[in-house]
Amino acid sequence: MTGFVCEHAGCRQPVIAAMPDNGACFCAEHFPSRTVRALCDAVVYVLNRIQQDPDLRWVMGWGTESFHRLCVAEAAVKGEEVNAVEGRRRVDLQPDYRKREPEVVVLREKLRAAGVE
Ligand SMILES: [Zn+2]
Repeated sequence: MTGFVCEHAGCRQPVIAAMPDNGACFCAEHFPSRTVRALCDAVVYVLNRIQQDPDLRWVMGWGTESFHRLCVAEAAVKGEEVNAVEGRRRVDLQPDYRKREPEVVVLREKLRAAGVE
């Protein structure tokens, strides 16, 4: 961890450890408890999945209450502004080789093209 600084907003203290699942690094003062780490890992996992899975993104992505609450939780742990987290998390991170629209959007277009509304 040498050379890394705490990811808590405004803190520049040396890192003591990284969180196991998402790699976020914190100093001794800001390193979350085991309970908070478990909760944050769950939140980060779901936010990562939303950014990579267009179907999940359609259901729980930017503009939904679920997305907002997940971003509020991540912002609290990292000491960031909620708007900053939402801005970063609304970016589509689907890999180019398998980038696609949500299945529900594709099916709606097929139904519309077939004259079924
Ligand atoms: Zn810190």
